[in-house]
Amino acid sequence: MEKGSQLYEGKAKKVFATGDPDLLIVSYKDDATAFNGLKRGTIEGKGVVNNKMSNALMRLLEKEGIPTHFVKELNDRETLVKKVRIVPLEVIVRNVSAGSFAKHYGVEEGIVFPRPTIEFSYKNDALGDPLLNEYHAEALKLAAPSEIADIKRYAFRINEVLKSFWDSCGVTLVDFKLEFGKLPDGRIVLADEISPDTSRLWDKETGRKLDKDRFRRDLGGVEEAYREIMARLERKLGVAE
Ligand code: ADP
Ligand code: UDP
Repeated sequence: MEKGSQLYEGKAKKVFATGDPDLLIVSYKDDATAFNGLKRGTIEGKGVVNNKMSNALMRLLEKEGIPTHFVKELNDRETLVKKVRIVPLEVIVRNVSAGSFAKHYGVEEGIVFPRPTIEFSYKNDALGDPLLNEYHAEALKLAAPSEIADIKRYAFRINEVLKSFWDSCGVTLVDFKLEFGKLPDGRIVLADEISPDTSRLWDKETGRKLDKDRFRRDLGGVEEAYREIMARLERKLGVAE
């Protein structure tokens, strides 16, 4: 598939048109940002890890009946995806307290929840991605009630699949962010990425963080952590197809 003009450059990826109006190419960068773009840096090799990991996990999810935007991995950093209209919600599922949850509610990190939680924020950098509930999302016409119902159902199902997959790699899936989009026929599919940039992944034995918190919190060993988590995934799934 031929790469057309660049449509968008985000914080972590570039998006290109293709010869087919229904398909896009996403290209993963090594650029890292945190705190709504205030902290910037580079994580060498991150783009390759995030591309391959997202694709491997989306293939796994497709096998479990969850529709995704994934079409074909083109090379180490680039993937062909179905073009969607992104629902401007960040959908966050949590199994264990961490990050903004711990801060908001004044609890320590590492509390295992009796069942997963879900929350939404309005994907809007200028407003700092404010938290909202499904009534707000409907009032703002970000998504219809039936679409939110689909999104919630998929998000919890995705959590089940990913939690069990990461567990088999010796990793606790603490929390993660998803984005969904609408196909031209109105169907909701999982879009964007699932990676150490968008998930918290802790070694089950030692609690060592194998995700972007190493960058956010200046913990060091950032590149090693991305390599390590990818190596665990590949050991489990075999070499990417
Ligand atoms: P950001 O926009 O937050 O800086 P990225 O650098 O990851 O994020 O940019 C990728 C952009 O592409 C995001 O805005 C994301 O919502 C969008 N996107 C992801 N998957 C698709 C898709 N299948 N179709 C259209 N847009 C997509
Ligand atoms: N997350 C993300 N993009 C965002 C905000 C959060 O991918 O803009 C992910 C983050 O990596 C973590 C989960 O969502 O896995 C929950 O993040 P949290 O709300 O705790 O916010 P943070 O502590 O990252 O500010």
